[in-house]
Amino acid sequence: MSSDAAALEIRGLRVAYGGVRALHDVSLTVPRGAVVALLGPNGAGKSTTLRTVSGVVRAEEGTITSFGRRIDRVPGYRIARLGVVHVPEGRGIFPSLNVRENLEMAAGVGGNGSGGRVDVSGGIDEATQMFPVLGNRLRQTAGSLSGGEQQMLALARAIMVRPRLLMVDEISMGLAPIVVGHLFEALRNLAATGASLLLVEQYVETALGLADYVYVMDKGVIVDVGEPNDMRASNLAAAYLGGAA
Ligand code: ATP
Repeated sequence: MSSDAAALEIRGLRVAYGGVRALHDVSLTVPRGAVVALLGPNGAGKSTTLRTVSGVVRAEEGTITSFGRRIDRVPGYRIARLGVVHVPEGRGIFPSLNVRENLEMAAGVGGNGSGGRVDVSGGIDEATQMFPVLGNRLRQTAGSLSGGEQQMLALARAIMVRPRLLMVDEISMGLAPIVVGHLFEALRNLAATGASLLLVEQYVETALGLADYVYVMDKGVIVDVGEPNDMRASNLAAAYLGGAA
């Protein structure tokens, strides 16, 4: 494994659900330590891309390499142990368990790339420092938290396992701007530790503010790629992103 291998290298990915192709030929790179935003309209294939990386969906063709290691035939639970962690759309939490149990389960999975487990009480302390509101709700059932608190829990679960590559799908969906601000601050802090991030986001400006590189996707293909300032100036990106870029 070379030390400068990208956090994620996707080449020629083709994915279908039944007979319907969702990804036609997707190639994308998350350089080590970089934040990459994956943007595009509904149904473009953004979630499918993340699901394929994390092993939930299998590709028909193409390769996925993370830190120099092919992962496109590796089972999902082992991909997580390699430090590739996915916060799916619609909250990756266990609603019937309480907040503490959700955090304990995340720590049990581990994600630091060595397959090692995370210190549970240290992880819970870290999570409640990141999002103090969770510290007051440790015994509360996760499903009874507000939408923003559930996303904080989902993100805390992912961050406490020290991901090397964190993929986050529309974490801001339906949340108030102040809550989105807290979540993005946590992502910014994670990026500052050297973790690599791949973000699917509906709030284009919020994503552009954090990203080093931006990919725009539509109908299962990448239609534009560049740095945030290029995207702000790009007519193509504006067309796909409803002028929001
Ligand atoms: P959104 O923002 O709406 O989630 P997206 O860019 O994440 O959009 P995907 O969810 O990846 O897009 O969907 C890509 C295509 O695959 C769409 O045409 C969608 O209808 C289809 N699709 C997604 N999930 C499934 C599934 N489980 N079964 C069948 N088709 C699916």
